[in-house]
Amino acid sequence: MSIRLAMIVHGSAWYIPPEDREAHKAGCRAATLVGFETLRRGGSALDAVEAAIVCMEDDPTFDAGVGAYLNQDGVVQLDAGLMDGRTYHVGAVAAIERVKNPIRVARILLTSEHNMFVGTGATDYAQACGILLCNPEELVIDRQRGRWLEYQERGEPPSEAVFVGNPGKGTVGAVAIDRAGDIAAGTSTGGTPFKPAGRVGDSPLPGCGYYADNALAGVSATGHGEAIVRVQLARSAADFCAKLHAPAAAEAALRMLGDRVAGKGGLILIDHMGRVGCAYNTSQMARAFMIEGMDEPEVGI
Ligand code: ASP
Repeated sequence: MSIRLAMIVHGSAWYIPPEDREAHKAGCRAATLVGFETLRRGGSALDAVEAAIVCMEDDPTFDAGVGAYLNQDGVVQLDAGLMDGRTYHVGAVAAIERVKNPIRVARILLTSEHNMFVGTGATDYAQACGILLCNPEELVIDRQRGRWLEYQERGEPPSEAVFVGNPGKGTVGAVAIDRAGDIAAGTSTGGTPFKPAGRVGDSPLPGCGYYADNALAGVSATGHGEAIVRVQLARSAADFCAKLHAPAAAEAALRMLGDRVAGKGGLILIDHMGRVGCAYNTSQMARAFMIEGMDEPEVGI
């Protein structure tokens, strides 16, 4: 049976204020098109996920790459991870600095003997692999600098903002299935607003922020990382695909996040049949998908 190509992306699940919604939708649409076109030209699911995530890391609308939240020290520290559902290989970086596209470093790591590098080790690894390091300031945009100053004046992390009032910036993620039926999934983030230096959430951890298994599904998650890690949300959602259709599996995993650890967030997935699913228990989730046969991505928020 020939596999239908499918691509799905998200631009986070939180409260996205009305004035930011069009930018989120446009960013998700553009990334879906880039990823889908990669698949259509014969690229692998990994190629498509990497291309879609690079597109969103480069878009300052999102909390990934350029435009990410600053941590309490006023520094951008990025996390990203990627998994190949055919080989179960994983590549990930956490708390990496001076790199505009951490998903590219994750992709290089995926084919290496290692899985994950963190902090300065990750930055050194990226440089050794030929990735150009940037000036840390190049990752900072005015809006985020202003937000950081506000948080600093308040003197404490914006805990309520993390759950509901986070003003429209988000983690990005993508899942794809290619003609061979190979599935890949990845996630990239600047983490939560005003996070302590070195804090790492779910996004770079396989099984938590993303997971891929050709026999089940590929998943990318977003939301409150500490809660997502506790229930290994991405792996759990893939496991639900053994018994449920993609949309029902996504809903079941999200219900588990809410019921077991009172977590807030969302996820996207593509199962081994190329069916897409999406669920969230926040007020918005920016997302888009395209399945072979569609003329345009379907975009939602
Ligand atoms: N899950 C990310 C983290 O906790 C944040 C997000 O998805 O918005 O770092």
